[in-house]
This record gives sequence, C-alpha cells and structure tokens, in this order.
Amino acid sequence: MVSIKYENIGVAYGDFIVVQNFNLDIPHGTITTLLGPSGCGKTTVLRALAGFVEPFEGNVFIGDNNVTLLPPQKRNTAMIFQNYALWPHLTIFKNVEYGLKLRESDELAALKSPWYSRFLWVIKPYYFFLGKTHSKALEYLKEAKEEYCSEKKGILQLSTWYLFIGFRWLKAISKGIDHYHREKKEQVDPKWAYRREKVFEALRLVHLEDQAFKNPTQLSGGQQQRIALSRSLVVEPDVLLCDEPLSNLDAKLRKELRTEIRSIIKSLGMTTVYVTHDQTEALAISDRIAVFNIGFIEQYGTPTEVFTDPHTLFVGQFIGISSTLVGKIIKPSLVELVGGETVKLQVKTDIPVGEEVSLVIRPENVSLTTKSDSPIEIEINTIEYLGTEVKMTGKLKDDTILLLDVAERAHEYAQMKVGTKITAYINTAETFVFVGADRVY
Ligand code: ATP
Repeated sequence: MVSIKYENIGVAYGDFIVVQNFNLDIPHGTITTLLGPSGCGKTTVLRALAGFVEPFEGNVFIGDNNVTLLPPQKRNTAMIFQNYALWPHLTIFKNVEYGLKLRESDELAALKSPWYSRFLWVIKPYYFFLGKTHSKALEYLKEAKEEYCSEKKGILQLSTWYLFIGFRWLKAISKGIDHYHREKKEQVDPKWAYRREKVFEALRLVHLEDQAFKNPTQLSGGQQQRIALSRSLVVEPDVLLCDEPLSNLDAKLRKELRTEIRSIIKSLGMTTVYVTHDQTEALAISDRIAVFNIGFIEQYGTPTEVFTDPHTLFVGQFIGISSTLVGKIIKPSLVELVGGETVKLQVKTDIPVGEEVSLVIRPENVSLTTKSDSPIEIEINTIEYLGTEVKMTGKLKDDTILLLDVAERAHEYAQMKVGTKITAYINTAETFVFVGADRVY
C-alpha cells in the first residue's frame, strides 16, 4: 500500500511562506490532482513530496515511511515535467535506460568498458555521414557497378566500384563489432540484457518501441511526453509525480494523451499525484481532486463531488464554466440583483433579508425556451454558432455577463443580432447560492 500523507507541513522560499499547516491524505492507487490557479502552491507541494524542497515544519509520509528529510533519490518516486526533460543527445532507448542505470549505479561503478570501445570512433563517422543516405548510396553504387561491368572502365566508375566495396566492408565490420560488443557487454555488464528488456517493456506501454533508436528531437511533443512517461515508469516507482505534463501540447493532443496516461497509470495501479491548472484535464484524469486556493485546499473530493457540489464560492467559480450574479435577499427566497432584476430561489432559505448573495450559474442552466420562475432580460453580447448548439453571452442591466448554451432551435438563435434584447430563464434549482465564501444552497 503506497498512500501519501502530508501532515501539517509548511514550505517557504526564504521568508515567503507558500503553504502552512497543510494536510492531505492521498489513498493508494489513486490519481490525485492538485488543481488551482497559477502561483497557488501546487508545484511546491509536489516538490515537497519529491524531496526537491524541504518543509520547515511537518512531515511527509510515503506509505509508512516518513520521507520528510530523505533525499529525492531515496524516495522511490519518479516525476514527469511540462518540458519532458529528455536528454537531446541520447537515443530514446538511452533516455529510458538512464533511470535504471542510476539505480544500479553502485554495481555499474565496478564495471569497465571493453578495451576496444575507445576505437569505435573509427567506425562511427561511417554511420554518421552515410547512415541516413545509405540506401540511396547503395542504389547509386549498384547502378555504377552495372555500368562499369557493361561499358568502358572510366576512372569515375572504377572509383565508385571500389567505394561500393569499401562501404560494404565497413558495414560488415561494424556489424561484427556491434555483435561482439553486445556479447562482451553482456559479459561485463550482466544487467544490460535485463535493462534492455525493461526499457522495451516500458516503451511498449506507450506504444513507441519502434522509436527506440531515434533521438528525442526526431519525435513530436506528444511522443516525447510519452517517452518521459515511460522513462518514469521503467524504474517502477512507488509514486508517480506529474507536473503539468500536458501543458506544452496542443488541445487535441492534450485530450488524447490524458486518456492514454490515465489508462496506463490505472492499469499499473500506481499512486499518482498530478498537478495542473486546467480544470477539464483534472476532471478527466483524476480519481480525486484537491482544489487549491492561494496556499490552502478549498475542497478535496472526487471530480463529480467538486463539480456538482462545490462547497465554496471559489470552487463553484473555478470548476466548470459559470457566470456569477451578485444581489441581495429582499424577501425570503427572492434576490434582487445589482441591476435591479429579480431571481426567485427554488427553496425557502433562511438567509436573512438584506444579506448579500452570489449566484453561480452554469450556462446549460440558462434557457431561452424552457420557462422558469426567474425570467431575466438580457442584451445579446456575443453569439458563437457551433453547429449543434449556440454559445451566447448576454448583458444584464449592470453589465454583468450571463453565459448561455442554447441547444434547442440553435440555428434560429444563431441568426439573432448582437444588441437584441431577449428573455432568458434561469433554472434556479441548479443554481449555487453563496453567502460570502460559503455555499448555502
Ligand atoms: P504554476 O501553476 O504557475 O506553476 P503553482 O501553483 O505550481 O503555479 P508554485 O510554483 O508552487 O505555484 O509557486 C507558489 C509561489 O511560490 C509563487 O508565488 C511563486 O512565485 C513562489 N515560488 C515558486 N518557486 C520559487 C522559488 N524557487 N523561489 C522563490 N519563490 C518561489
């Protein structure tokens, strides 16, 4: 069981305290997302778990181990970053192998390179200059040979023929050396075959085993991030840490990759802590979400809980898309908005008359066709036609913006003019009501 526990930790950079009295329990085998706006401290909390920053108070546990003061390499965690952090000069294979090698570094220190490895540079230029155009060169040389055999033996043909033979010879030698090298390597470094198997296993997980001998620069951003994932998984960490791993990718790829990452992690049952500021990504990938405000958690729950039952105004506004209308209770269950419009709440609340409230309304809960007790006049501000639906914004009297998703008669509403005044109906049964920061309904 590899659960994680932050117990009253405080982390600061110099005098600047990022989090204090911070507590969080992350159950074994879950993907838990730290979600919040930029600068709220989610990466700092992740770094405290990885061992990159040391809390000035409190404890961090991985399973039963108190890891607060352990160096990062002793924690059996692995991390993937926004910028992939792959070595550009190493092949994909070597990048993935790197972590495994580090973990065996003591044994490796005792190993020596074979004597001939220092001479391999003689062969390497052959690969370097001709590797890419090898088949083209061979084709050309074959033609040259035929010409040489059938026609006059000019200097050019003669020299190309010798070149051809020379290349084949070099290739045969280098192949032989490769083979010998591999056998020797296995004798000298018994873990080499094991590592090779593990690396390919990890690459197969992300479906990139056929790219093993390319360099990272020859792969797309999405592929590079999958390599980074496989490099993290190959060391079989107790905990996987992901710091905004999809932020550098375009929207379509982000969507594809988050599904893939989730299914890989879930298939391995690995406890994962994932940092993002993208709430859609958090909803899609997580088992649990900790919604951060500056330096503390506002709410911790499943994606469904934080979406359908926000406990605070911050969570209501941060999760999902919504508009916030501010007003005052003028009669039991009747709210007068700043611009003078009224909204009738569905239940009798005991919010005292005169209390200021915030109504958080999701666009799908405002209709132009289904009437409710709370009609409200709006002036159309923008219209975005998306085929099956229209996304609209409307202005209230005080210029507050109300968001609407119009699915019924979408084509008709798409033709309306900006500036037209229409009546929208708020579904107050699905409206979140807050007094101050706390949700009351
Ligand atoms: P983002 O999503 O932008 O990465 P975040 O929520 O992960 O933000 P952190 O990176 O944890 O936020 O930063 C929290 C606060 O600590 C920020 O105000 C940031 O400026 C500050 N901070 C982060 N790293 C350092 C550092 N090395 N030295 C000083 N202050 C730092």
